[in-house]
Amino acid sequence: MQPFYNEQQTMLATTVREFAAENLAPRADEVDEKEEFPIDQFRGLAELGLTGMTIPEEFGGSGGEYKDFMVVLEEVGAACGSTSTVLITHVSLGSQTIHHGGNDEQRQRWLPSLASGEKIAAFALTEPGTGSDALALETSLTRDGDEYVLNGSKLFCTNGAVADVFSVFTNHDKSAGHKGVTAVVVEKGTPGFTINPQHGKMGMKGCATAELVFDNCRIPVENRLGEEGEGYKLALKILDSSRIMIAAQCLGLAKGALDAAVSYSKQRVTFGKPIATRQAIQFMMADMAVELDAARLLTYRAAALYDEGLPHGKESAMAKLYASEAAGKIASKALQIHGGVGYFKPSAVERIYRDQRVTEIYEGTSEIQRLVISRAIIGDL
Ligand SMILES: Cc1cc2nc3c(=O)[nH]c(=O)nc-3n(C[C@H](O)[C@H](O)[C@H](O)COP(=O)(O)OP(=O)(O)OC[C@H]3O[C@@H](n4cnc5c(N)ncnc54)[C@H](O)[C@@H]3O)c2cc1C
Repeated sequence: MQPFYNEQQTMLATTVREFAAENLAPRADEVDEKEEFPIDQFRGLAELGLTGMTIPEEFGGSGGEYKDFMVVLEEVGAACGSTSTVLITHVSLGSQTIHHGGNDEQRQRWLPSLASGEKIAAFALTEPGTGSDALALETSLTRDGDEYVLNGSKLFCTNGAVADVFSVFTNHDKSAGHKGVTAVVVEKGTPGFTINPQHGKMGMKGCATAELVFDNCRIPVENRLGEEGEGYKLALKILDSSRIMIAAQCLGLAKGALDAAVSYSKQRVTFGKPIATRQAIQFMMADMAVELDAARLLTYRAAALYDEGLPHGKESAMAKLYASEAAGKIASKALQIHGGVGYFKPSAVERIYRDQRVTEIYEGTSEIQRLVISRAIIGDL
């Protein structure tokens, strides 16, 4: 266990690890193979109170700090990548956007059923024309009396095919730069709102990705989060904190890969000895363990800064960048240690190798993380 985790976090890790070993890991290959949203796993996480983590108890959540949620995501990610993405999107993107962007009435309206896991949340920022550059949003928001009319589409929306409550970023004034971006909540079943599942992902196949289409979709003005023009700041704030959770997910993916490599290296015999006795294999695993611990320390620092209410944008970008790339290297080495077996399904390392790849893309690509970090250390030129 990690020396810097407190007693409660150590117990939380043990509880989630046991739950994950019994319920998530045995179904991870099936979720991947069938591209099946892990709804029973999600309900199991809800029973443990994990779908309401970081949401205050007054809004139906189970509370907890980001450091606690980090501990949970490492354990969930080690057992099933898809389930960890589903949980991050539900909690630290979808629900937190309502928590931070909404007023108390909106929090009471949406958060309790999300925190309990009765309903599922999604976060819709990316569009066909833009991912990295949120200022180029095309989905329009036009006021008409007490309603807004939405037109446009969103891509790659995780949980989208099964979600009930969507935090959607729109543009109410394209000439106003970042002040033109406004966040609203759109509920499933609203007339003019169509959800088209997207298939064919390389990994994280259980995440029910969808395209969202808004065709004269009318929502009440009360569904707006914050004021008109506050959506860009809200999106950046949410991504700054949620990236810490992607880093935590990467710790899990990396741990899953390292554990599988250690176990396999003790069983696989070549030239009369287990491959774990070969220095080439031992050194690979030593490097993997160092990378994993370095990523864990960066992630813990970012989560601690967030929990203390201190600036954490640069540190969360550093954690996400390092942990995602470290998980990539670790998954690749784990596959190498498995030889040909690692290249075939079903194999945990083959699945982790594919699942890991998107962690260098979503919630800001590695290039965007480097942009955030370099701007923070150099300043605006
Ligand atoms: C499986 C999956 C799930 C996702 N889930 C969600 C979700 O739930 N909600 C959501 O809103 N989005 C989601 N996304 C979208 C994801 O966040 C975007 O794909 C990502 O931000 C990159 O945007 P893009 O695909 O438009 O790439 P682009 O922005 O077009 O970038 C293309 C390439 O150019 C590079 N690049 C772009 N701008 C710069 C620059 N200024 N300097 C240097 N390099 C640059 C990028 O790093 C990248 O390598 C998901 C994506 C995937 C694949």
